[in-house]
Amino acid sequence: MQSAEGVLTLGEGGAPFLRAPRLGEALGVPDLWIEEEGLNPTGTFKARGAAVGMARARELGIKRVALPTAGNAGGAWSAYGAAAGIEVGVAMPADAPDLTKRECTAYGARVVLVNGLIGDAGKIVARSAKEDGWFDAATLKEPYRIEGKKTMGLEIFDAFAGQRVPDVVLYPCGGGVGLIGIWKAIAELRELGWWRGSLPRMVAVQSATCAPIVKAFEARADASEVWQGAETIAAGIRIPKALGDFLVLRAIYESDGCAVAVPDEQTRAMMRKIPTLAGVFACPEGAAAAAAVGNLREKGWIKPSERVLVVNTGTGLKYADLVEANPPLQSSDSKL
Ligand SMILES: *Cc1c(COP(=O)(O)O)cnc(C)c1O
Repeated sequence: MQSAEGVLTLGEGGAPFLRAPRLGEALGVPDLWIEEEGLNPTGTFKARGAAVGMARARELGIKRVALPTAGNAGGAWSAYGAAAGIEVGVAMPADAPDLTKRECTAYGARVVLVNGLIGDAGKIVARSAKEDGWFDAATLKEPYRIEGKKTMGLEIFDAFAGQRVPDVVLYPCGGGVGLIGIWKAIAELRELGWWRGSLPRMVAVQSATCAPIVKAFEARADASEVWQGAETIAAGIRIPKALGDFLVLRAIYESDGCAVAVPDEQTRAMMRKIPTLAGVFACPEGAAAAAAVGNLREKGWIKPSERVLVVNTGTGLKYADLVEANPPLQSSDSKL
């Protein structure tokens, strides 16, 4: 940012770090924490990247910004575009969560639905950029979005430095920008000499039915291959091939971390469990990350005494249709 006037904010960031001992006990890791990103504007951490990306676009005099999205980035960039007075174009899979489509249009964005996945949406954006002068703000195509997401890492430092930093950080990984951003912040803080203690092991969590990074990690590869037939209830991590896959994998290898896949049934079950044990209505992506804690604990990869941080990347309120009332609701006019 060149000047203070350039700042664009809707109140993003500053996520609370919540101790979750009851959920932690259930997962075999009592010192469990949740970084609650669901309180951000538009309900996900995507607001962090949009705030910086849009602010810089405005500074540079860009008038129209377009991006492909699995849903939540579209909502965030649409909101910040409206605040900045920049036109926003969003291309998203036709089967993206309905709420995120409405959200984009509510903020005045132009939305096209694509019969395909996010990669197909990306092609539409690239073509529109070339032919109609849209600025292509797809993940990692411009350098500012990641600077916004990096603030998650700065806030981890802020919350835990001086006491004990988490031994493990679990992040639901789609495009991977959040994980790359956190790792970038840690690297820079180390370079400054501010981060002196041990480093967290970074865990990329994916869905078993869309797990390109996990597959690459298991093969000890430096990059991933396109995942065929990607499908998962955790829409934010339905990314068959991340442009920055090699950076995610590098962060995992450098931190001694790992990548793990969680089946959707387990994610769904965890989505029900977290609210009852932590008071947090997590999104399915965050629930997948929490489920991975239990799986890695069982394998012995996480020790019971370790401090573990789960990044809940968004609010479950955006995915309320995934949680049915159970047991079914009954009416009564006299008592509980
Ligand atoms: C986008 C998104 C993710 C994945 O984040 P990346 O930084 O792209 O890996 C996870 N959870 C939610 C709710 C998202 O919207």
